[in-house]
Amino acid sequence: GFKMGIVGLPNVGKSTLFNALTKTAAAQAANFPFCTIEPNVGEVAVPDARLDKLAEVAGSKTIIPTRMTFVDIAGLVKGASKGEGLGNQFLANIREVDAIAHVLRCFEDGDITHVEGRVDPVADAETIETELMLADLESIEKRRANLVRKLKGNDKEAQQQDRLLAAAQAAIEDGKPARTVEVDAEDARAWKLLQLLTTKPVLYVCNVAEEDAAEGNAFSAAVAKMAAEQGNAHVVISARIEEEISQLDAEEAEMFLGEMGLEEPGLDRLIRAGYELLHLETYFTVGPKEARAWTIRAGTSAPQAAGVIHGDFEKGFIRAETIAYDDFVTCGGETGAKEAGKMRAEGKGYIVKDGDVMHFLFNT
Ligand code: GDP
Repeated sequence: GFKMGIVGLPNVGKSTLFNALTKTAAAQAANFPFCTIEPNVGEVAVPDARLDKLAEVAGSKTIIPTRMTFVDIAGLVKGASKGEGLGNQFLANIREVDAIAHVLRCFEDGDITHVEGRVDPVADAETIETELMLADLESIEKRRANLVRKLKGNDKEAQQQDRLLAAAQAAIEDGKPARTVEVDAEDARAWKLLQLLTTKPVLYVCNVAEEDAAEGNAFSAAVAKMAAEQGNAHVVISARIEEEISQLDAEEAEMFLGEMGLEEPGLDRLIRAGYELLHLETYFTVGPKEARAWTIRAGTSAPQAAGVIHGDFEKGFIRAETIAYDDFVTCGGETGAKEAGKMRAEGKGYIVKDGDVMHFLFNT
C-alpha cells in the first residue's frame, strides 16, 4: 500500500490530526476493520462513493475499500539532522514513506506555545525542509565516499549512482531540495532507489482555526502560494474540527459539517490530495460476495494491476475482462454490460483506467 508520513514542528496539531483521521476512518468504514498497526501507524479506508454504488448494483455482500497508511512521524525539530530531538530515527522513518504530509500551524492561540515563538507557516516549512536537506547532504556525502573504490574499478552502476548523487548534492548546496533535479527516464529507477528525503512529494496540511476551516486564512493563503511555486500540493484542514467529527456518527457528522460550511470531512480531502500528488488511481473487483477497491499508480498495465491482488495473478496473467465504471452502473451490472457489448477483453499491454471494473483470467 501507499504510505504518507505526517511531519511538522512540535505543537502544530499532528497528533490531533492523526488521531482524528484514524478514528473517523474507523467509524465510517463499518465493513472495514480499521487497524492501528503501531501507535503511530494507521491504515485508513479511502472514501469512494463509486465503490458503494458498484456494490449496490451488483448486490455485493461486503464492501472493502482500498487503504492508505498514515504514519505520525513526531520529533522533527530544528537540528534533527544533527541528532537533536528524536533526530535520526525519525529521518529513517521518513525514508520509508511515499509522500510527506507536512502539517503547518496556521492558527493563533496564545495558550499553545509555538517552538519559534511566532506563527509563520512558510518559515516553519523552510525550517523542516532545511533539516531534510541537511540530512540528505550528510547521506549523500557518506554514500559518495563509499563509492570511491568502485568508481576506480569502472563500475557502471556506481558511476550512475555517483552522477545522480552529485546532481542532488549540487542542488542542495544551492539551497534547493533534490526534487528540483531533472532526471532522465533511464535514470528514474536508480534515482528513486537513492531514497533521498527531499525527493518525496509534499502535501502541506494547513491546520487552521475552526472558524477558518471553510475559507482558509492569510496564513494558509501564504502556504498555498509557496506550494504552487514549489509544485507541491496543499489542503486546508482544522484538526480540531476533525477531532470533533471523529466522535460523531455519520448523520451527526454531516449536520456538523453543514453548520461549519464544509462539504466533506478533511480526511476525504486529504486522501484525495494524496492520490493526486502520488498520481494514484483506483480500479474495482465486483462480485456477489464482495466489491473491492484497489490502488494503482496511473499508467499501470493490466498484469501489474493484477499483481496488486496477488503475485500469481501477474505471473500467470492471460487477459482481463474490463467494464468501465459508468457502463457497469448504466447497464445494471456485469451481465447487462456484457449483453450491451461493454465488456472488453484486454491483454498484457492494456493500461488500466481509473474506475475500471476488472476480472482477471490467469494460469496457476
Ligand atoms: P503535535 O505536537 O504537532 O502533535 O501537536 P498536537 O496535535 O499535540 O497539538 C498541540 C496542541 O495544539 C494541542 O493542545 C491541540 O489541542 C492544539 N491544537 C491543535 N490544532 C489546533 C487548532 O486548530 N486550534 C487550536 N486553538 N489549537 C489546536
